[in-house]
Amino acid sequence: MIVILLGMPGSGKGTQSKLLSEKYGFKHLSTGDIFRGEMAAKSPLGLKASEYVKSGKLVPDNLVTEMVAGKLEFDGASYLLDGFPRNLEQARALGGFLASHQVPFIVIFLNLTREEVLKRLTARRVCLACGEVYNLTTRPPAVEGKCDKCQGAVIQRDDDTEATVRKRLMVFEDLTQPLVAYYKGEGVFREVDAAQGPEQVASALAVVLDSTMAGK
Ligand code: AMP
Repeated sequence: MIVILLGMPGSGKGTQSKLLSEKYGFKHLSTGDIFRGEMAAKSPLGLKASEYVKSGKLVPDNLVTEMVAGKLEFDGASYLLDGFPRNLEQARALGGFLASHQVPFIVIFLNLTREEVLKRLTARRVCLACGEVYNLTTRPPAVEGKCDKCQGAVIQRDDDTEATVRKRLMVFEDLTQPLVAYYKGEGVFREVDAAQGPEQVASALAVVLDSTMAGK
């Protein structure tokens, strides 16, 4: 089974993906994390993706879909897709791929207002070493700039500055938001209010997933 977590940047996809992967044993596939890893390693893919990621634009579809297709193994594993698909073209490519392997999927939309996204993302900080996520307002690290878990450097992502967040929101509204209507038409769509705290969002997601898995 494939779970597609859809939502604006900052809606909690990454946090919830980690919680759900631990609880249900999903393999977590975050295209954003993969690009950041490739960029840090200065790999050919990372070098190609870098200018897009840093400016808040989408990486070209052919690079993304090839990368995702190369990671999915249909050996009975269940995946949680975080950040993919991001537009209709990617959704159609994924749909064809899943249909040809007869893999069922569900789409869950983490719904949040634009204002809340701006507030969350401009206050977001991440650990360079272990990826732990902080928020300067609601969950700052105990020592400024240092990760509580691994003592790594806690920094602001290049694309979390206000100007780039606004750009990413525009990209979301233009290209990703249409996926809501697309998947509603496919009858595999559920929605969760992402303005709640992480634990409440996790419980709401568990209700959706448990009922889906029980075939309700
Ligand atoms: P994220 O961490 O999901 O917010 O992604 C960070 C950045 O990675 C995005 O702003 C894009 O530049 C790039 N990216 C991640 N996923 C995709 C995708 N499915 N298609 C195109 N670009 C992507």
